[in-house]
Amino acid sequence: MKTQDRMAALFHEAEQVIPSGVNSPVRAFKSVGGSPVFMAKGKGPWLWDENGTRYLDFCASWGPMLFGHAPAALITRVARELRNGTSFGTATAKEVELAFKIRHLYPSMEKLRLVSSGTEAVMSAVRLARGATGRKKIIKIDGGYHGHVDSLLVKAGSGLATFGTADSAGVPEELAALTISIPFNDVTALSEAMQHDGGQVAAVILEPVPANMGVVLPEKNYLARIEELVHAHKALLIFDEVITGFRLSAGGLQQVFGMKPDLTCLGKILGGGFPLAAFGGRKDLMDHLAPKGPVYQAGTLSGNPAAVTAALWMLEQMEKKQPHAALNKRAGVFFKKLQRQITQRGLPVQLNATGSMFTLFFTSTPVTDYRSAKTSDTQRYARFFHSCLEQGLYLAPSQFEANFISTTHTAAHLEKALEIFLTALEAAV
Ligand SMILES: *Cc1c(COP(=O)(O)O)cnc(C)c1O
Repeated sequence: MKTQDRMAALFHEAEQVIPSGVNSPVRAFKSVGGSPVFMAKGKGPWLWDENGTRYLDFCASWGPMLFGHAPAALITRVARELRNGTSFGTATAKEVELAFKIRHLYPSMEKLRLVSSGTEAVMSAVRLARGATGRKKIIKIDGGYHGHVDSLLVKAGSGLATFGTADSAGVPEELAALTISIPFNDVTALSEAMQHDGGQVAAVILEPVPANMGVVLPEKNYLARIEELVHAHKALLIFDEVITGFRLSAGGLQQVFGMKPDLTCLGKILGGGFPLAAFGGRKDLMDHLAPKGPVYQAGTLSGNPAAVTAALWMLEQMEKKQPHAALNKRAGVFFKKLQRQITQRGLPVQLNATGSMFTLFFTSTPVTDYRSAKTSDTQRYARFFHSCLEQGLYLAPSQFEANFISTTHTAAHLEKALEIFLTALEAAV
């Protein structure tokens, strides 16, 4: 059976038993059209679908695969660990070791807890911020995504934005009304929101480099000004580094910029493909958590031994190999070549890139916030995406996402990707 026919058949079957055939919405290819590709195997920079067709992968499971798919040493180590059991529901020595390793890389996380998803990390951080400050309101960024936390499904990226209300049915408007959403890179907007509501704001939460409206870069001094304003009003600054953590550097954006948010959320790369995330921050804040403090937070599988073992391996690799400088340099060469071709050919395309992550927007407007991101022609993105797919390259199946380069993407892989991108760009615009 042809790949497309086989995928369509599988998708049809999936739709009988799973809503929209997928366990997470963007996987359904709704915004690019066609049937989702069902993947069966990954190794290094490659994915193979159920038909055995191979793809050079830039989706990286939405970020976690910093060292590519299925690193042999990680698989061996987790497999060995699994013989000791899959979950105990008790304290373990390994989780303590991991917490120290995380704190070493993220000194702002004086204390931290392990959870199982980025959503859970953010949900817990927001509750803690409200509990510790006794304030109710949360400020977020238009197009900022923080998992499917009720309070944060307001102007939450990837389409769906409706003015001033929740993006999702099922979020009470009374709750959504406590969330204020402002544009990125706009200090005045935050200043005004703080003047208006400052005394009621528990926290400002942001992805310091937004990646869920596509990659958008902070303007010079923006993050420092935000930090000043937040603290002037005695609110808390929460950095959602679920994507940027371990991606831009081992210590995330906060290490690169030398910043110290009150609370930080980590996920994705941390678990190396296992369900693991963390939230942490100032000791005095974290001590508000139960059982010592009044803010409840818990999890049956929190600190799961298999996931913790994978995380320990990931962090040890980062310590031993210090991979970020070489990775970011190789990615930077690729971005530069791609940008040169875009400029030479006069294509109406914006390449936003930093470290080893990037987005191509199909617009002539520089993309600096959600409003400008939304000027992208998503039909063109869909054509670009499908042309790449046909040429054996897998991207995030939506315009408003980041793509990721791993340490297993060699210069030769990136040369091939450049060729594929240029063919797809010509086909798309
Ligand atoms: C992916 C993501 C989340 C949610 O993490 P899940 O593990 O999908 O729940 C939260 N914040 C950011 C910035 C993310 O990219």
